[in-house]
Amino acid sequence: MSLKALLAARIAAQGPITLADYMADCLLHPSYGYYATRDPFGAAGDFTTAPEISQMFGELLGLALAQCWLDQGAPAPFTLAELGPGRGTLMADLLRATRGIPGFHVAMRLHLVEASPVLRAGQRAAIAPHPARWLDTADQLPDQALFLIANEFFDALPIRQFTRDAQGWCETRVGVTDGRLTPGLTAATPFPPLDHRLHDTRPGDIVEICPAATATVATIGQRIARHGGVALIVDYGGWISHGDTFQAVAAHSHVDPFADPGQADLTAHVDFAALAAASPTAHVYTTQGEALLRLGIAQRTAALGRNLPPDGLAGLQADSHRLTAPSEMGTLFKLLALHPAGSPAPPGTV
Ligand code: SAH
Repeated sequence: MSLKALLAARIAAQGPITLADYMADCLLHPSYGYYATRDPFGAAGDFTTAPEISQMFGELLGLALAQCWLDQGAPAPFTLAELGPGRGTLMADLLRATRGIPGFHVAMRLHLVEASPVLRAGQRAAIAPHPARWLDTADQLPDQALFLIANEFFDALPIRQFTRDAQGWCETRVGVTDGRLTPGLTAATPFPPLDHRLHDTRPGDIVEICPAATATVATIGQRIARHGGVALIVDYGGWISHGDTFQAVAAHSHVDPFADPGQADLTAHVDFAALAAASPTAHVYTTQGEALLRLGIAQRTAALGRNLPPDGLAGLQADSHRLTAPSEMGTLFKLLALHPAGSPAPPGTV
């Protein structure tokens, strides 16, 4: 049996499925899911993420998180959490960079939200000897002060996609045509969760929603509003969903998302306006490039390069450019920070 055959059987039984159902199976099916069965990162894998490009990413964001903890009176104990830690590289860099902050490591209770058993094993090794708890979902996080980081987590959560019609919305559903999985549109119906988008869209426009993302942010934001903390959410996307952003990547190239389910990374751009609206906290929003420059990536590059031969320094400078330049990751990737109303905005965001 293949995932394609399983999906085709499901569609034959119950009719075309939403993109959310399709994405969820492709990414996380226990036997065939993309993340459930492999480590996809790095040059030899399918894609490379910011923490895999440079240690500076996790160091700078980790220190920003620790500064927020100090600014809020160093609550103890507190939850230090990451959503979707991948190889654990960001958390390992964060833990190393925050070693010297008095009390931080003693007070932290490390929690990693990760669905993939394969990746959990790698994370355990990456953060050793620090103890941690692994959780399936963010709503299992303890009800206490929460300092959380997430890089390229929300883009992996399942989306639903709608095309505006004069009468309402047609949803994209995946069916089977001539033995191939193919997207199609339902008939138009009213869809109350998108009523507010009738004002800024026209017939033919495409809008995406990510119910799992807004639910996750709501649960995180409640803890931060109640007990203090901060969430630093980094991902590609923009402010207010507009257009078709559903995509598949394998071996660093775009591929047909319906050709080979479970074999490619499926993602969509993150709608940061929807995330901000889902949290009861205050928020600040900026680009990854601006945030890293304000946090001192240029100075960190120079410091790390001081004892390196010239080509080592050039490599660090190229990594820094890749993370910050508008032509690279600097403006496509955004930082949304959630913080309690009345506490200072996290460093790097203003
Ligand atoms: N943050 C890492 C990895 C990003 S890839 C980095 O920047 O390199 C997405 C990560 O989220 C992977 O670890 C994947 O297994 C995890 N993930 C995806 N969907 C998930 C879900 N629904 N619940 C928990 N973890 C999930």
